[in-house]
Amino acid sequence: MTGLLNHPAIAGVTVVINPDCRSLYDQAVAGLPLTGPVAGGATRQNSVLAGLDALAADPPDIVLVHDAARAFVPAAVIDALIAALADPAIDGACPALPQVDSLRRGERGRFSASVDRDHLWRVQTPQAFRFPVLLAAHRAAAPGQTDEVAIALAAGLAVAITPGDERAFKVTEAADFAKAEAMTVHSSRAASGFDVHRFGPGDHVWLCGVKIAHDAGLIGHSDADAGLHALTDALLGTIAAGDIGDHFPPSDERWRGAASDQFLAHAASLVRDRGGIIDHVDVTLICERPKIGPHREAMRARMAAILGLGIDRVSVKATTTEKLGFTGRQEGIAAQAMASVRLPESASA
Ligand code: MG
Repeated sequence: MTGLLNHPAIAGVTVVINPDCRSLYDQAVAGLPLTGPVAGGATRQNSVLAGLDALAADPPDIVLVHDAARAFVPAAVIDALIAALADPAIDGACPALPQVDSLRRGERGRFSASVDRDHLWRVQTPQAFRFPVLLAAHRAAAPGQTDEVAIALAAGLAVAITPGDERAFKVTEAADFAKAEAMTVHSSRAASGFDVHRFGPGDHVWLCGVKIAHDAGLIGHSDADAGLHALTDALLGTIAAGDIGDHFPPSDERWRGAASDQFLAHAASLVRDRGGIIDHVDVTLICERPKIGPHREAMRARMAAILGLGIDRVSVKATTTEKLGFTGRQEGIAAQAMASVRLPESASA
């Protein structure tokens, strides 16, 4: 729908929705310059008429009726529709593509006849009309019409064929979503995180979601998992959503002794709420002891599970500081992390 929203000739977009989907709709369009929503009816035809009725108080010259499922309408399709309506003999215009595949009639698994494809078109949306004539045609239309062209033809209106575009396909089947995903323009984001926890009394530490027996523990308000904390901050950084302390304040008793899995899962869900795709995460643990090597694969598997990622996208590394500094003196453990994500362009604008 971004093509419609950004087109300079389009003064406003009113959305017709199923009122039961109101909360999903509010989530999906937050921040977009839309009017409505208008409650739709039982059929597509009823829903479009409800939208037209809503516009009638302050009627536009031209209205474009669009299936939101066609999410990638190029600006050139809209340009051609508006250009076609410069001809006063034309009441409406509709983008269409010629039928290139052969057509055959068939019943019960067998072909029965050929169909001449020469004058057949695959009809798309948006379909553009002079507002008053479309409103009148809709109000007079018999039920069961599948689109505005059908209603216009039944009313004897002149509808021009304008160039459609394969990119304006309907996103409906699972395969369409994969195609849409590939067509979405993403911007890459990478961000880092860093965390330290001090050693104290205890017999185990939590690192990258794995419990490791040790002759000391790590002190912290939660389970003190520096690896997961650093990675949580890295993910929050990719969407500029503050840091772990903003989301899980140490002053909040709920997080006392809490497993840090939930911090990381929350950061990942915030990225995904923005339409983001987590491409890769990488954690470096900085300590003399415990030895990380024996636990590396368990750490990768645990973080992959929390994030819902393939294990090939989750890296764990370890290093010492050659006995220098606080990690060298085994006073504490440090962790740094990187996360890279892709965000849809509309979310990053
Ligand atoms: Mg921490």
